[in-house]
Amino acid sequence: MLLELPPEMPVEAVDQGLNALGSPDLRCVTASHSHEDHLDVDVWNAMIDAYPDAEYLSPDELEGDTRLELGEEPVWLIKAPKHSPDDVVTVFRGVAMTGDIETTKLDSNLREVPVEQRRASMDYLRDFPRRSEYHIHTKFSAHLNSLHRNVDWNHQFSYWDYAQRLAEEASATAAGRKAGRKWAQDRAEPIQLQRLSERRGPEHDWYFGSGSSADSSAEKFFLIIEPSADREDAEAFLGAIRQGA
Ligand SMILES: [Zn+2]
Repeated sequence: MLLELPPEMPVEAVDQGLNALGSPDLRCVTASHSHEDHLDVDVWNAMIDAYPDAEYLSPDELEGDTRLELGEEPVWLIKAPKHSPDDVVTVFRGVAMTGDIETTKLDSNLREVPVEQRRASMDYLRDFPRRSEYHIHTKFSAHLNSLHRNVDWNHQFSYWDYAQRLAEEASATAAGRKAGRKWAQDRAEPIQLQRLSERRGPEHDWYFGSGSSADSSAEKFFLIIEPSADREDAEAFLGAIRQGA
């Protein structure tokens, strides 16, 4: 089962991975959500050409709990939109891969999903061990910036008062942008800067946050970009980048 199809992932890398595992079959291909750093459409199509017999589960088409069987073990795909409208958490062998969802807060770095839906999704996710009678002991994020072993799953969803949290995050975000610009000047790679400029537009203003998904060996690039309604901030960021170039 292939989970996540980042841009420029060669089909050969999947071949090699399967061979290394002694597993000639690829039965299922899916992704935690449809953002391009997790589900690149070109890679998705290349996979369909290379592995036409696999089952392709597009995150936007999944609903509720999907239970698959992999080597007589269950794999669950739990739909829980919070970071994006089609977030799916994958659970296998007691390990939950939460994509880009931050489970310990109701807020999200993106605001693509209304807060009431975020809350409902997290309640649904929180309830998973009870309804499935399946224990989760470990969770990690797609960018590998968050890995928690021996988790108390329920505790992952005990939020602070939401309004208070939002106020605290607003000031933390402002500080984060500053730190992010500095970080980007020092560390960003051309591909990140290119993406940054490509995605800028009326609906997608981008700025660097303070590195919460930085250092991702899963994607082989360091990146966190978040849309911001603050154009001035985006301009300042791009100005800083140009000066640095
Ligand atoms: Zn995402």
